[in-house]
Amino acid sequence: MKEQEIKILLVEDDEDDVILIKSFIHSEMNGRKVSIDLASSFTEAVACLDKTQYDICLFDYRLGHVNGLDLLRSVRARGITTPVIFLTGQGDEEVAVEAMKAGATDYLVKAKLSSDLLYKSIRYVMELQKKEEALREGEELNSLILNSLTSLIAVLDKEGNIIAINKAWEHFASENGNNFPSCTGVGVNYLKVCRQAAEAGIEGARKALVGIQAVLNGSQAQFTLEYSFRSFGGKELWFLMRVVRLAGKHGGVVVTHTDITERKQAEETIRYLAYHDALTGLPNRTLFNDRIALAMAQAHRDRHKLAVMFLDLDRFKIINDTLGHSIGDKLLQDVARRLTACLREGDTVARLGGDEFLVLLPRVDQVEDVAKMAERILEIFKIPFRLDNHELFISSSIGIALYPGDGDNAQTLLKNADTALNRAKAQGRNIYQFYTSTMNARAFERVILERGLRRALEQEEFMIYYQPQISLHTGHIVGMEVLLRWQHPDLGLILPMKFIPLAEDTGLIAQLGEWVLRTACAQNKAWQQAGFPPLCVSVNLSPRLFKQQNLIQLIDRILKETQLDPHYLDLELTEGTTMENAEMAITILQELKKMGVRLSMDDFGTGYSSLSYLKRFPIDRLKIDRSFVLNITANPDDAVIAMLIINMAHNLNLKVIAEGVETEEQLSFLRFHHCDEIQGFIFSQPVPAEAFTKLLEEKRCLPPENPDKTEK
Ligand code: C2E
Ligand code: MG
Ligand code: MG
Repeated sequence: MKEQEIKILLVEDDEDDVILIKSFIHSEMNGRKVSIDLASSFTEAVACLDKTQYDICLFDYRLGHVNGLDLLRSVRARGITTPVIFLTGQGDEEVAVEAMKAGATDYLVKAKLSSDLLYKSIRYVMELQKKEEALREGEELNSLILNSLTSLIAVLDKEGNIIAINKAWEHFASENGNNFPSCTGVGVNYLKVCRQAAEAGIEGARKALVGIQAVLNGSQAQFTLEYSFRSFGGKELWFLMRVVRLAGKHGGVVVTHTDITERKQAEETIRYLAYHDALTGLPNRTLFNDRIALAMAQAHRDRHKLAVMFLDLDRFKIINDTLGHSIGDKLLQDVARRLTACLREGDTVARLGGDEFLVLLPRVDQVEDVAKMAERILEIFKIPFRLDNHELFISSSIGIALYPGDGDNAQTLLKNADTALNRAKAQGRNIYQFYTSTMNARAFERVILERGLRRALEQEEFMIYYQPQISLHTGHIVGMEVLLRWQHPDLGLILPMKFIPLAEDTGLIAQLGEWVLRTACAQNKAWQQAGFPPLCVSVNLSPRLFKQQNLIQLIDRILKETQLDPHYLDLELTEGTTMENAEMAITILQELKKMGVRLSMDDFGTGYSSLSYLKRFPIDRLKIDRSFVLNITANPDDAVIAMLIINMAHNLNLKVIAEGVETEEQLSFLRFHHCDEIQGFIFSQPVPAEAFTKLLEEKRCLPPENPDKTEK
């Protein structure tokens, strides 16, 4: 781009001088064309300057009746900043000084004027002009930047006096006055402002004072501080204060205060969300964990208890599934409100998710208080929940664990409260349940077993063991009791006492019992078909199966299916089973008897059989319970009971078998008192079918009685 021409205004009334000066000025300077306008009077000069922007003016001192100095002053007064070279006469040095003061950039003595001098002066003036312009532009830019910033910015000198502030500071101070963090402006000592605020107890001001002093004295390169501040309008604001050392000769600092209220609010929201459940606004698990940790530390220090309640809504899933999630959500919100209202200040209720809530009672003096609180919580569910034209009745179950008794850390406490909750639910819902230490193992085992039980039948994990029953008259095997075993894939062999009650509870016993009966009958038939002497197989009949409507038909069908003669099936019943409804039992027993099936009364002596009923029950055999046999030779009472049972059975025309016979002494006692049969480890443990076949093949029998070993 071609550079613009250099425009010069020459103010001169002497025509000769004009010619002379014009002749000194080249038509080109530094590759730029030069144009000269001429003004011969004050008025002309002003008119030219108003009209045109010149790069340089040459003012002659003497201009008719006015002088160049007046012109210069007047020009500057009009705000015209064009550089002026002042032309003076010989000996007018004082005028030259005046001209410089009035704003001339350079002066030249007319008498000594040469082309060279004039050229040098013009070049110098123009360069100076350029530099000043750049500086001015830079300064303008800086202040533009500073003033466009929303942070409050002040520059302090070494003593802490404010030497500059930006617009934001000015604006803030206009509202907030001479109060920390602002102050009215330049000249004020900022350290003093901070000190006064600190003395008035403003925490941020105290820290700010220390920080600024540290940066001013060089012990710290910079300092930052986040502080909150209540504005005159009462709004809480947050500021980030930054103090940075100023490089260079100034040696002061720059102090900025940036409003970070929005960021703080966002952080606050994030923190809130991280610690609260979005649906109900209750604390979530994380916050609950914090609170419980704190409460445990306090309880430990002050030696008091605390309680954790695990609460869940009974059958919430049904509401959610049938009425939709929006109703489900509203219900949870209502429950949260009611729970919060029913607790004391200082207690915490949290939502874990789903329909699970946790309650923390951080200070418990008496366990009864916890029970009362649990009752109060159950109470709040008594009033129905009204949601979108629905009236919902819902209850809740509560499990409670106490610190320190039920666990010394949060995790254990929660786990145990959960176990207690499961127990509460199992007991029929809408109740609360305190944790007990036996519950844990039991509950755990129960859950595992219950889960496994369902698939055990399909997976063929059940096995049947057979324990021989031996006649004391002949010493030969006369029968075998069928005893169920569960080969659990993880827990190994499980005995029936552990899983039979569970199978009863879950109703699985019907299928299981049928399977046992069928397998036992089929196996017995198989032994008979293999040519072994026919034996009687004893099958334990569970109370539930006994009460089952189609029991008779079931047994009949199985006997037909397996083609086992009914005489070779013996059903073992307990006193409890038959006495629960004795009249009904008599009818069933009679039906069974009619079919030809044999009947034994198992575990005899442990129940509460009435003698009159015993007479009416059409049974064949009494089984003396193992517990009497165990101490038959050591405990005279047990010996008497065993003897009485044997005698009574014989008087009623019943056979007697003793179970759990382990020792020679027990055997001798039973023989001596004419017990008919025995069953026990002394002869054989319960064994699988193959092992039992071996016993039959070996024709294993009891050795005849040792005549020396009769009872003394
Ligand atoms: P139960 O009918 O009184 O069975 C006798 C129990 O005594 C069996 O325990 C047997 O293994 C054990 N026993 C036999 N001789 C001795 C001995 O000399 N010493 C000792 N210490 N114990 C001996 P098991 O197999 O654990 O069965 C326990 C109970 O489970 C049975 O008591 C019975 O009530 C029930 N049960 C077993 N199988 C079935 C079944 O298929 N159905 C039903 N409903 N109940 C069953
Ligand atoms: Mg039995
Ligand atoms: Mg028994």
